[in-house]
Amino acid sequence: MCSLKIALQKSGRLSEKSIDLITEAGINIMNGTRKLVSRASNFPVEIMYLRDDDIPQYVYDGVADIGIVGENVFREKNKTLRIIERLGFARCRLSLAVEKQSRYTGIQFFEGKRIATSYPNILDSFLKENGIRAEIHEINGSVEIAPGIGLADAIFDVVSTGSTLISNGLKEVETVMRSEAVLVGGNGLTEAKREILSALLFRIRAVQKARDNKYILLNAPNEKLDEIAGILPGMKSPTVMPLAMEGWSSVHSVVNENQFWEVINKLKEAGAQGILVIPIEKMIV
Ligand code: ATP
Ligand code: ZN
Repeated sequence: MCSLKIALQKSGRLSEKSIDLITEAGINIMNGTRKLVSRASNFPVEIMYLRDDDIPQYVYDGVADIGIVGENVFREKNKTLRIIERLGFARCRLSLAVEKQSRYTGIQFFEGKRIATSYPNILDSFLKENGIRAEIHEINGSVEIAPGIGLADAIFDVVSTGSTLISNGLKEVETVMRSEAVLVGGNGLTEAKREILSALLFRIRAVQKARDNKYILLNAPNEKLDEIAGILPGMKSPTVMPLAMEGWSSVHSVVNENQFWEVINKLKEAGAQGILVIPIEKMIV
């Protein structure tokens, strides 16, 4: 039977969340042994566990049909693939950093400098766009130590909290791109594989949507119901049910994570009581 081959990072910062996403989509992948390839028992997909740097090439060659990689790696490898879905995890940025004591006044600083990086292509296009000529030193891993050992004047690397930079005596001076995990694919999928992909995407979107929203229940005096319904964004309109206690109702709705605290405060001010907030497992809209 035809199955869709999905490339995931074998071990690293993307692995766990990639596997969680597939698992929460109800797909059973027994990855206990972490073989190179494992087949799901209840959905027509096969998972291939690879180094993240290799994933764009494998998808490009059609060895895997789709893959999950950081947008930074996807951009660096520069293959003609498309982003099917942004996944919102493994957020980070690619930045230029210089030694803490350097007097940095702007991008001209990099003219004639040596910059160490594992992302030469992205850096090269950034420098060209800004008309800067600098020497790019490509190194794999531990880029942040390059200035300290005299190998480079600056680095261009992945940053998330910035603590690695600080502990190596560096400071971030330019953010060149922002990145998150993305689901990427090539073009020539067969009709059968396209169908599997669309079923998979339907599930992934339901999981993502559920993560972004919370189910909320509260009690309210009947005379406040209009005001409270106006505060709750909801999917359509809130569900309102009478309580056994005369003059009170129970209100149910869905609230987006981003608006969450603001909405809760307004609800309290409007007289809501006994507010319960419950995670949603799947959400289909
Ligand atoms: P592999 O062994 O598969 O080559 P790796 O060491 O190259 O792994 P990881 O460090 O696991 O890669 O990072 C994978 C991706 O996670 C990065 O390409 C980036 O998109 C994202 N990421 C998020 N935060 C960070 C961070 N603080 N440092 C590095 N990568 C990060
Ligand atoms: Zn890697």
